[in-house]
Amino acid sequence: MKQSTNQFLKPITTKVNSFGNIEIGGCDLISLADKYETPLYVIDETTLRTICNDYKQAFSKYPKTHIMYASKALCTSAIAKIIDSEGLGFDTVSGGEIYTVYKAGANMSKVLFNGNNKSYDELELVLDLNVGRISVDNFFELSLLNEIAQSKNKIADILLRITPGIECHTHEYIQTGHLDSKFGFDLTQIDSAVELIQNEYKNLKLHGLHAHIGSQIFETSIFPDEIEIMAKEIARLDAKFGIKLNEINIGGGLGVKYTDKDAPPSTYEIGEIIINKLNDVIKRYNIEPPELFLEPGRSIISTSGVTLYTIGSSKQVPKGKKYVSIDGGMADNPRPSLYQAEYYAEIANKKDTNESETVTIAGRFCESGDILINSIDLPMLDEGDIICVYNTGAYNYSMASNYNRVQKPAMVLVNNGQSEIIIQRETLEDIIAHDIIPERLKK
Ligand SMILES: *Cc1c(COP(=O)(O)O)cnc(C)c1O
Repeated sequence: MKQSTNQFLKPITTKVNSFGNIEIGGCDLISLADKYETPLYVIDETTLRTICNDYKQAFSKYPKTHIMYASKALCTSAIAKIIDSEGLGFDTVSGGEIYTVYKAGANMSKVLFNGNNKSYDELELVLDLNVGRISVDNFFELSLLNEIAQSKNKIADILLRITPGIECHTHEYIQTGHLDSKFGFDLTQIDSAVELIQNEYKNLKLHGLHAHIGSQIFETSIFPDEIEIMAKEIARLDAKFGIKLNEINIGGGLGVKYTDKDAPPSTYEIGEIIINKLNDVIKRYNIEPPELFLEPGRSIISTSGVTLYTIGSSKQVPKGKKYVSIDGGMADNPRPSLYQAEYYAEIANKKDTNESETVTIAGRFCESGDILINSIDLPMLDEGDIICVYNTGAYNYSMASNYNRVQKPAMVLVNNGQSEIIIQRETLEDIIAHDIIPERLKK
């Protein structure tokens, strides 16, 4: 079957150029490091647009498909512009993400708002901006949203977030669809929710069901299992309440290839499996073909991103590991310390040696756990070498912090030999910009 971009370790434009340096998007990584300094996030536009197409093509046989980019993976104004120009919608989880895509000019009817504890202000904002769908997570939110919609004389278009009770084999912290989860209505609570919507909450219009099982999923059976449960619920709710739900949102979660050990399925493979399953349940449960919503985050953005760091000091533990330190780490990429996530890296500059060594790439932050890569074979390293860590597009910048009061890195977009800043590097002034010293302390 055709490969899709999430199955690649590196951006699809990656190559070694005539200087012996790695280049991405036609840009020499060493020139980028010189020009913009490191650490530096680099996003390859070609890879990003190609994966969007992989998704669109994979689902073209089911024209009622809507791909909603889960913007929590990486949400910046320029990325939102690209995603919107590809015709995708957005799954958002905060006022900040909604504001970003709104200011980038996204079509707000193609935005969904999701989360287990949305604030009053956020619910007001989504109604004011006419966000297309709100996925309601719990009873408290049903009542709160109805009240806010009523006060604005609006109808809120909603889905019910459900926990279908499916487990997948991924890291415990990134599983969400099993029964003991903080997200969504248990299947036994759906009927009460539907009754409330039908009888009391007149400012809510229910369109369908929403679930999200987990992240970095390699098992293709998760999605049909989910569709089976949702279709069954839709048929059951129609029989019991006469309510016609015609939207199924199966969330995101398709995996990517962080290292050679990872073998994620392609969009084409899951597309075929999902469409076959839909056609099957439509017949078996005798339901109207539903609109299908997908919310891929990681698999859309991860592969297009790399991070460049400069190699600094190193330490050989007597009879132990060799630690090599970089100028970034857990504040720009918290995933290794949060999830024991693994990454692959290469030296981006030409090396005149064939000798290699096994090293541990250590971050610069004051935590022993700030280790970016535990063990990797690289050419003999020198201070000033530039290391390129692959597959950092998702959940790196979006989870970045100012730990140790270190400025967040810049991000550049590369395409056809051009590089453009899409996030400015923070300055020391940015670091203290929100600090206030009370007058009485100034004496
Ligand atoms: C996080 C999340 C996603 C995206 O997950 P990925 O693994 O990045 O594809 C989609 N939908 C919901 C509801 C989420 O919470």
